[in-house]
Amino acid sequence: MLERILKILIIVVDCAGPLLIAVGLFAGILHVTLLDISLLVGMHVITMGGVTVGYHRLLSHKAFKTGVKTRRILAILGAMSGQSDPIRWVDLHRRHHRYEDVEGDVHSPHLSGEDFWGRLKGFWYSHLGWIFDDDWERSDFRYAVDIQNDSVICFVSRYALVWPLLSFVIPAVLGGVLTGTWTGFFSGFFWGGLVRLIFGHHVSACVNSVCHVWGSRPFVTKDYSCNHGLVAILTLGEGWHNNHHAFPCSARQGLTGWQIDPSWWFIQLLEKLGLAWDVRVPSQKEMLRLDRSRLQNT
Ligand SMILES: [Zn+2]
Ligand SMILES: [Zn+2]
Repeated sequence: MLERILKILIIVVDCAGPLLIAVGLFAGILHVTLLDISLLVGMHVITMGGVTVGYHRLLSHKAFKTGVKTRRILAILGAMSGQSDPIRWVDLHRRHHRYEDVEGDVHSPHLSGEDFWGRLKGFWYSHLGWIFDDDWERSDFRYAVDIQNDSVICFVSRYALVWPLLSFVIPAVLGGVLTGTWTGFFSGFFWGGLVRLIFGHHVSACVNSVCHVWGSRPFVTKDYSCNHGLVAILTLGEGWHNNHHAFPCSARQGLTGWQIDPSWWFIQLLEKLGLAWDVRVPSQKEMLRLDRSRLQNT
């Protein structure tokens, strides 16, 4: 019951929030300072990095290995994003890869019909609507059995509500301390906590919606996944989604020099520091095998 109430609250905040913020800024009710922007961007990078590097590339796809402490920190940062606990996130994400735009996919935009309304409905479902689908509510987490045996991940999942709360407390305290005012405290809470949460939810949701509808498809895959540069920038590299569906176990998703992938840069840093190892990337031969332009010319 508590989970259902939280979901309704999140949907209301995610849908009404952007509109209210835009109106507030336009009407001059809301004011934003450089510190507010810094807290918003800083908290987004930290929590989104927890999702992309921790939840996604490490836990879901085992694209590299780490020690216990690094795994714990990455999982906590992912949980701070307010995108559910790691076990549920990994279970649903692996289910997405298992079914990839066919019946059984958790959030495909392509299962509601191909006419205008079907596409619109599908887009909404893939973006946020799927969160309310009872089919996923009843999940037995069968796709995440391995991480259910990981005591570090169980610890993070057990305190699932603590981490998102922490992601509000940190920017609020920083805002209060750095300005020495209560206004700074509430402003940090608002921009670094609430606005960052809404922004993070929407850009992550774009990977499921936008990146299965619009963009380039350099690799041949069974699904409709696309590469979308803007989504990639906002999600620290996750928008190279066609690359990802072609090579799901790769720690690197931006596969060419110009494909910006900050999550990959961070994994490389971890590797250099000796905190990550067995880092997986596709070979040139593997990439050529799925290269659409090469296959079309043969
Ligand atoms: Zn996908
Ligand atoms: Zn994935």
